[in-house]
Amino acid sequence: MFNIILFGPPGSGKGTQSQKLIEKYQLKHLSTGDLLRSEIAAKTPLGLEAKAIMDKGELVPDEVVIGMISTALENNMEARGFLFDGFPRTTAQSEALDKLLQLKHTEINVVFSLDVSEEELIKRILHRGLTSGRSDDMNEQIIKARIIEYHKKTSAVAAYYQQFNKVVQIKGGGTVEEIFSILCKEIDNHLS
Ligand code: ADP
Repeated sequence: MFNIILFGPPGSGKGTQSQKLIEKYQLKHLSTGDLLRSEIAAKTPLGLEAKAIMDKGELVPDEVVIGMISTALENNMEARGFLFDGFPRTTAQSEALDKLLQLKHTEINVVFSLDVSEEELIKRILHRGLTSGRSDDMNEQIIKARIIEYHKKTSAVAAYYQQFNKVVQIKGGGTVEEIFSILCKEIDNHLS
């Protein structure tokens, strides 16, 4: 198995690059944001609870997202590998993921950290909000809250994986195709 984490602040391009990478490398895409939005669309109790938190730009509790990822791993063990997008977002989530993967006799191979300036992030998310239908993309206050939450809780995830030398920094300010090509080169190096 080959398992990747795409890491970076909201709006850094994780979702866009994920779509291209899963197609090229035949990986299973696991996005906790997408999983949560499916729960919201299906109006489940979990979805209702999550929506209130997401609309404040805060993080959903660790147990909730870890539970979702654990189920998704169980259901996809035939996959060639996983691409984690928007997960892990806290140190506790990182530790839980390592344990879950260990039970499956696999591990994270590489963490790509997408680096984009804050100004560019806000611009991209507001632009996405015009068509995404995501209420958390339409309001600058919520976007800023998400970026603050990222600095407070999520940036520690990079430090966690740095201790295992798994982090590769990627300049995320270029075009979609430029960044995709850098990611592919890195993955091909890891695979060969
Ligand atoms: P973005 O990366 O653009 O912020 P996501 O779709 O990944 O978008 O996440 C949207 C929201 O869903 C987050 O602001 C947060 O409230 C919630 N969420 C997603 N993934 C997690 C996670 N791993 N832990 C806690 N909350 C999460």
